[in-house]
Amino acid sequence: MQIFPCPFCGPREEHEFLFAAEAGKVRPEPAEKVSDAEWAAYLYHNEAPNGAAREVWYHQTCGTYFLMTRDTVTRNVTESRFLPGASA
Ligand SMILES: [Zn+2]
Repeated sequence: MQIFPCPFCGPREEHEFLFAAEAGKVRPEPAEKVSDAEWAAYLYHNEAPNGAAREVWYHQTCGTYFLMTRDTVTRNVTESRFLPGASA
C-alpha cells in the first residue's frame, strides 16, 4: 500500500485517492471548433510517463483536488500542494 500526502489531511493510504488528470493539460478551445478526435485526445490520451509525473489527484475523504509530483517507477512523491487558485 502506497501512502499519498494530501496537502490538507497529510499522509493517507492510496485507496482514498482518485487520479484526476495530467497537470498542465490544456483544454482545446473554442468548443464549437474542436473536432471529435481533438476532444477524445484531450479526454483519453495521457502521457503515462515512466519516471517523473506531475498530476492532479482528488482526495475523496476531504474533497480536495491537488497537484502531486511523483516518480511512477520509484513511487517517490516529491511534491504535494494545493492547485493554484484553489482553497481548502
Ligand atoms: Zn485530504
